[in-house]
Amino acid sequence: MARFGAHAFIWESDWTPQAAERVIRNAAEAGLDFVEIPLLRPEAFDPEHTASRLQHYGISATCSLGLPAEAALPERPAAAEAFLKRALTVAAKLGSPVLTGVIYGTLGQLPGHPPREDELATVAAALKRVARHAATLGLSLGVEPVNRYETYLVNLTRQGLELLERIDEPNVFLHLDTYHMNIEEQGFKAPIVQAGQDLRYIHLSESDRGTPGSGNVRWDEVFAGLAEIGYQGDLVMESFVALNPDIARATCIWRPVAPDPQALVSTGLAFLRSHAERYGLLR
Ligand code: MN
Repeated sequence: MARFGAHAFIWESDWTPQAAERVIRNAAEAGLDFVEIPLLRPEAFDPEHTASRLQHYGISATCSLGLPAEAALPERPAAAEAFLKRALTVAAKLGSPVLTGVIYGTLGQLPGHPPREDELATVAAALKRVARHAATLGLSLGVEPVNRYETYLVNLTRQGLELLERIDEPNVFLHLDTYHMNIEEQGFKAPIVQAGQDLRYIHLSESDRGTPGSGNVRWDEVFAGLAEIGYQGDLVMESFVALNPDIARATCIWRPVAPDPQALVSTGLAFLRSHAERYGLLR
């Protein structure tokens, strides 16, 4: 059965002890199985406190990130590897089974040329070493293709699958996001079917990053694709009500895209859940 989660930035833009408490309590009250916690600064993260709150409210966590400029791929493979290993340590302490997102690059870093063979080889070599380290901790790594305005490295499902092949480690999977798919793919169902069993994580995000069901994403195609591949992975509502400057810059959100967290949960999450149920993903 697929699990349901939501991104922490639906509720809070930072991860102080107070924010952690509020996010985890709200996610548990919304009936979610887990909350996705961004590890933007793993060195400043207090995993013991967050782990205790997760245990208290009885829900799980997943962890995601994009590489910071000082640990960018393909420019700084050694720094990227060290950064990802620090993030894996935190993710393991939170009991997260995955570290996912734009683990292969830095959002907004656009050098003005298509990805070169040597750049992709550097990214894959670094991620292969990180994947092997992740395996020793029992964790998997997710690769999330994002749109052309945020990265030049991996925009399409096809490119994500190619990177998986280059990395060639069993604990690396594809993570799709309907917001990015709406910009880059031709339709929603075919890419999901193409990803097949490599797809283990999906961000269910509306075309304007707002409330799912209120924009241009063709949700019936999305869920028909997931049903066709017998999807058993994680379903994650991603929207950004609470924005910090790093996320605003990375995602180019300059206005509120949803009224408030409560509306997202009562309208957006309910919409996604009813689709998931209708397409048999929650049995
Ligand atoms: Mn996403």
